[in-house]
Amino acid sequence: MYLKGLELQGFKSFPDRIKLDFNKGITAVVGPNGSGKSNISDAVRWVLGEKSAKSLRGSKMEDIIFSGTADRKPMGFAEVSLIMDNSDRMLNIDFSEVSVTRKVYRSGESEYLINGKACRQKDILELFMDTGVGKEGYSIIGQGRIDEILSSKSEDRRTLFEEAAGIVKYKTRCNETRNNLEHVQADLVRVK
Ligand code: ATP
Repeated sequence: MYLKGLELQGFKSFPDRIKLDFNKGITAVVGPNGSGKSNISDAVRWVLGEKSAKSLRGSKMEDIIFSGTADRKPMGFAEVSLIMDNSDRMLNIDFSEVSVTRKVYRSGESEYLINGKACRQKDILELFMDTGVGKEGYSIIGQGRIDEILSSKSEDRRTLFEEAAGIVKYKTRCNETRNNLEHVQADLVRVK
């Protein structure tokens, strides 16, 4: 799958709207320590549904919103859009280019969009399931993650293989259905 670009505004060290175009081939982000390189991969994981502030190197979700500098006011929201090429229809949506957007306000309110249309976070998670791109996918290997993959619990390693085998979507639906059946069972017991 070809990652075409990333647009950021108000995300961590990027107050102004910027668009990064990833041309075909290898793209490397180079810069001195603390210049914001890892913030770019944090933005990718965030738009793909990352819920843990800690894994985005903050203590609360609000920490991802530009917090201001000596001569610049903080921002009230952060917005990230990821643009992917979908001419091979790898993503199950009938567009040859797909953009997913996540926006969060300081109030905690958030918005998700697929190709500019409001959607639920669940829709974005489902779109990327079994493609290896999701936040749990293996396409983003962060600092220290190799160690984790090699040495973590067997269940964690299994998740990685399941994503590669393309069965996560079915497992998730199976678990949802099982939960629904349990609720219905509980309702039946109450009715009896
Ligand atoms: P290293 O090479 O040391 O890993 P890096 O280039 O990957 O560094 P990052 O860790 O991505 O850099 O960026 C850190 C910078 O982002 C710091 O200067 C920090 O002040 C800034 N930063 C992080 N969150 C925010 C925020 N909410 N508002 C403003 N700046 C932020």
